[in-house]
Amino acid sequence: MNALLQIQEPGSAEQQDNNSQANKTYGLGIDLGTTHSIIAVVCKGEPEVLCDEEGKQVIPSVVHYSDNTTLVGHEAAAMRAVDPANSIFSVKRLIGRSHEEIADNNFSNIYDISQGENNLPQFATRQGNKSPVEISSEILKYLRKFAEKRLQEQGNIGGAVITVPAYFDDAQRQAVKDAALLADINLYRLMNEPTAAAVAYALDKNTSGTLVVYDLGGGTFDISILRLEKGVFRVLATGGNTALGGDDFDADLAIHIATKLGIIKESSNQALEKLSKKQQQELLTVARQTKEKLSADITEAEVKLTQFAQGKNPEDKSNLPSHSCSITRIEFEEIIQPYIDESLTIMTSALKDAGVQNAEIDNVVLVGGSTRIPYVKQQIADFFKREPLCSIDPDLVVAMGAAIQADVLAGNRKDSILLLDVIPLSLGLETMGGLNEKLIRRNSSIPVEATHDFTTYKDGQTAMSFHIVQGERELVRDCRSLAHFTLRGLLPQSAGKARVKVTFRVDADGLLNVSAQDHSDGKMTEVDVHPTYGMNEQDFRKILEESAEMAEEDSKIRKIKLKEEDGKQLLAMLVKALADESIPPTAEESAAIEMAKNKLEESIENPTNAEEIDQAINGVSAAAEAFINRRMQEAFKNSTK
Ligand code: ADP
Ligand code: MG
Repeated sequence: MNALLQIQEPGSAEQQDNNSQANKTYGLGIDLGTTHSIIAVVCKGEPEVLCDEEGKQVIPSVVHYSDNTTLVGHEAAAMRAVDPANSIFSVKRLIGRSHEEIADNNFSNIYDISQGENNLPQFATRQGNKSPVEISSEILKYLRKFAEKRLQEQGNIGGAVITVPAYFDDAQRQAVKDAALLADINLYRLMNEPTAAAVAYALDKNTSGTLVVYDLGGGTFDISILRLEKGVFRVLATGGNTALGGDDFDADLAIHIATKLGIIKESSNQALEKLSKKQQQELLTVARQTKEKLSADITEAEVKLTQFAQGKNPEDKSNLPSHSCSITRIEFEEIIQPYIDESLTIMTSALKDAGVQNAEIDNVVLVGGSTRIPYVKQQIADFFKREPLCSIDPDLVVAMGAAIQADVLAGNRKDSILLLDVIPLSLGLETMGGLNEKLIRRNSSIPVEATHDFTTYKDGQTAMSFHIVQGERELVRDCRSLAHFTLRGLLPQSAGKARVKVTFRVDADGLLNVSAQDHSDGKMTEVDVHPTYGMNEQDFRKILEESAEMAEEDSKIRKIKLKEEDGKQLLAMLVKALADESIPPTAEESAAIEMAKNKLEESIENPTNAEEIDQAINGVSAAAEAFINRRMQEAFKNSTK
């Protein structure tokens, strides 16, 4: 997606005719959750969650691989008990992570995970090795298909906004973007989950002022502090932990139950791992059910196990464990207390980063299934000394906010929203001695750009290599390695003579782009970026080619159509901006814009391939960028007056 479409002046776009539903372009909002995924779309001005074939809004993020079919959602979830090794759940916890990073994770108890190319983990399934990106793409593909089916008579789908935890780093975001591409989804934008929730509340309740979003889901904890004013959503700070959530409560409660029943002697993860996969799975499922029961109006819940009926105690067969017991709410609260304490510590530092006191918070929004736990609500209410907002279903609110943003990007909305999100972790370069030199600080508003000059240290040097890292620590080895990149094609000169200007740009999706310019001749230098954990072009193409479905759907035509749609929206917006005489383009800009515009119009009229339209779109974006930025700044000034 081009940058121009992300920029809309508050309150300036005109409402499209919502009654002409038949050829409406819909924007999908997708919450790709660890445990559940949800898809929503704006119909008649209001976000609406779509139901799957079974009439359910909440789709388990589970993929089951059998010999020749791939199941997703409820059907896949049902296979977990029967065929756990091929029923993959919570894959979001692994997406964009390296094999070694996930080594000490419970996943290896259930799945056969090995190290694939580029240090990425891969699951051995009945259909061969599958990476977290491929598994996630199955979920996205499933969601896209049922949305298409559901909306086919009412119009077409222009693209989707997919949400990610605010705390996701570049590699994780890139991985989600890759999954969207594999699922043949035109990704309008990645949006931070808490920001999406804030958008949904703001439109529903007309909330304004300073707002905290506390999102505790199955696998991740996310916090964002935002300021909302007249259609401008400015994120002040974010924080979180990508490995903290309801799954941890389940795992600890499972250990507690197993210990209480005498199934394991020592209350630890290692002891639990000695049980069979089916037994572990049952303990986890029962723990989860018990946890959810305790959120209702009861203080004690009964636990019953079946997989242990024959006394399958691997440690001591003579001493049969009993198979049922009860767990009180207080027992459960003691188990989760350290996790909730940690979330409050993270919240305190996010407030500090935002420069906001507890008392200045106007509203607290709760998101995620785990905020249904009464103890969690209580702790938050105590922390802020006010009751949190939870009137929109915490399971659905993120997808609804994403749908609103997708509707804006599809060009359907009058009340435009200007989103100013932030980058969650600093980006830096490795310098001498393994130090991290930060180029873009965390919590900077995005899109953001930083430039840096580099020179050669050897005579005749024609290439330079760099290592990009993400994180707050001083030493590179304590940060996350994102990518290595090489500048090639420099003019050979004596040492220290060359001047290369490298630009790091984080786009509105929170993704990093690197470009470089050789000062001596003003030419763009070639930049080769090798992501440390991501997929490279080759892997990517291979998977795309292997996907028989792409051939079936004649993806070329599809891609052209989607690009045409992008191009038309861009043109419409540009025409509108040019018609507004209060902030005109300069004569020079005007000429460049006109030329790029004609080229784009032509490429839409006589399309040959999607790349050509894409190039023309980029041409227009580049020609109009300064002009549009000026307009945006004006609009922003006006809106905050
Ligand atoms: P994610 O976005 O990470 O997929 P969700 O927001 O869907 O997560 O939340 C899922 C988590 O919420 C799971 O751990 C689930 O057990 C938990 N959960 C759902 N309902 C309840 C409930 N009533 N009480 C406690 N936990 C719940
Ligand atoms: Mg969620």
